[in-house]
Amino acid sequence: LLDRLERLKADAIAIAHLPNVRYLSGFSGSNAVFLISARGSILLTDPRYTLQAREECDCAVKIETGPLWTGATRLIRAKKLARVALEADKLPHSTWTRLAADLRGTARLNPATGLVETLRAVKDAGEIEKIRRSAALCVRAYERAIGKVRPSITELELAGEIDFQMRKLGAEGPAFETIVAGGDHSALPHARPRPVPVGRNRLLLIDMGASLNGYASDMTRVVHLGEPDKQARRLYQAVFDAQLAAAAAVRPGVRCRDVDAAARNVLKRQGLDGYFQHSTGHGVGLEIHENPRLGKKVDGRLEAGMVVTIEPGAYLPGFGGVRIEDTVLVTETGAEILTPAGKELLVLNS
Ligand code: ZN
Ligand code: ZN
Repeated sequence: LLDRLERLKADAIAIAHLPNVRYLSGFSGSNAVFLISARGSILLTDPRYTLQAREECDCAVKIETGPLWTGATRLIRAKKLARVALEADKLPHSTWTRLAADLRGTARLNPATGLVETLRAVKDAGEIEKIRRSAALCVRAYERAIGKVRPSITELELAGEIDFQMRKLGAEGPAFETIVAGGDHSALPHARPRPVPVGRNRLLLIDMGASLNGYASDMTRVVHLGEPDKQARRLYQAVFDAQLAAAAAVRPGVRCRDVDAAARNVLKRQGLDGYFQHSTGHGVGLEIHENPRLGKKVDGRLEAGMVVTIEPGAYLPGFGGVRIEDTVLVTETGAEILTPAGKELLVLNS
């Protein structure tokens, strides 16, 4: 990060986006400004976190009773930092303008975007282990919850069951709002669970992820309640083939857009590419959506140590949708699926 600051001709960076703070300092509280420079790093937080910050951080910690940015301004002046980078895409405009006014004549503010996020995209061994555990927990919670599916259980109850199982297995909680969507509702890629029974003779989409030791996992499975008809089978098979094709394309050096194209081309051959409106995947780590993005226009390349999702889908309005999603580690030679729950169409007759 210091190298990157030097290239930006900045003396320091002040970070307040909490996943970035956690990544760099270990601090997991909900309020912090982390000031980093070649002259040392200091974490500012409030008195609620006095004990926690000292436990979690190796760096210097300063407890502020007033606004953290006021404390940061004081430090910037005291350390005579002349050019300070700020997270341009994370900071409220009001904070930015106040800092610019407070530091007028002392320090220039340097808008920086994605400095820490780029570092975070490639995981170290410790992070990979944490994501591996989070993903394994997600699979176990899924397998337990799927045993509770009955026609009478509501989408909300099943989502609650999934969240409960994740916590029982030791997760801090779900990494995002669990999606349970039955029938035509599954055609909404980001459906919210409803207080309606999942019913019979329809698709049921479950998108879930755990947060464990701060690290997320992400997995989607679609099951069929009762015997699927031809259309449901055809839709499932197309997405299944697309998911395998994209996962097979994952290796170091491949362009993100080429992984996306691998999935999209399979759907195209089935006339379904028009029903796949989102990108094929995203990075997973301290946040559920992070770099890299596996989209149509993303020229960046995968590197070993990145963790991404592979999640093509096809959504037919009025009928239903299928998405199959795994969390995948980019290895030196290819890919390792971290969410190895069964992917063949599971038919539940109960
Ligand atoms: Zn997901
Ligand atoms: Zn996802």
